[in-house]
Amino acid sequence: MNIYLSVDMEGITGIVHGDMMSAEGREYDRGRRLMTADANATIEGLVRAGARYILVADGHGPMRNIFFEDLHPAAHLMTGSSNARDYCQLEGADSRTFDAAVFVGYHAMAKASNAIHPHTVAGAAVAELRINGRPHGETGLNAAMLGSLGIPVVMVAGDQTTCAEARAFLGEQIETVTVKEAVGRTAAICRPAAAARADLTAAAERATSKLHLAKVYKPQTPFRFEVDFVTMMQCDRAARTPGVERLGPMTIALHGATPWEQYRTFWAALRAALTEPASWLA
Ligand SMILES: [Zn+2]
Repeated sequence: MNIYLSVDMEGITGIVHGDMMSAEGREYDRGRRLMTADANATIEGLVRAGARYILVADGHGPMRNIFFEDLHPAAHLMTGSSNARDYCQLEGADSRTFDAAVFVGYHAMAKASNAIHPHTVAGAAVAELRINGRPHGETGLNAAMLGSLGIPVVMVAGDQTTCAEARAFLGEQIETVTVKEAVGRTAAICRPAAAARADLTAAAERATSKLHLAKVYKPQTPFRFEVDFVTMMQCDRAARTPGVERLGPMTIALHGATPWEQYRTFWAALRAALTEPASWLA
């Protein structure tokens, strides 16, 4: 059994603030340790269920957060800058045949309330992302992209709002682990770390022990994949990317022969949107 484990940071046990999530943050190394611990607790459950190959994809910001030297010995690690990855948060998901995916440390979509750092992919640029007209956060988006490769998502962990979003998009059969109750964007009641991690282990084992019940999330194809930007400048830059169609002052559509190709175009467009031009071009 091969498992793809995508790990973000906002939904990790004990993490509530940007200070713990950015390389410039005073408490970044604390956040990294907590992230590595949640990943390890999950991997332990996957191993108990019989996983033979586990690829952990570090999926937050610089994408080099997890302490490799402290990672569970059963796991491989996809690490390295997002700029070098065509599929960014889902890099490596097509590197072999995965039986299932697990999302840990995930956060709620843009505009959600009672959620730690809710946003969709890049809060500074993406106001709303839609697939077939429905706003999607990273849980739904990534599940749809993995679904296009035939991979079901069987477990999601994060705050209570993230877990509710996961059930709404992926169905009630999915295993969720609420590691904290967010009361605002940067505050939460955090469960004891040992209890939350024990739940991660147990849920990972349960989720991958019943793969026959897993459901692949497959919105109708071809996806109508649209993004609203925060600023018109971002939309201007993104719209020059091949495969991108401009629909309005703030809105683009991403095209491609497959959802996976649309996703690649999305990241290319986003990189363009977030690139500040050299001063002589401005
Ligand atoms: Zn993140």
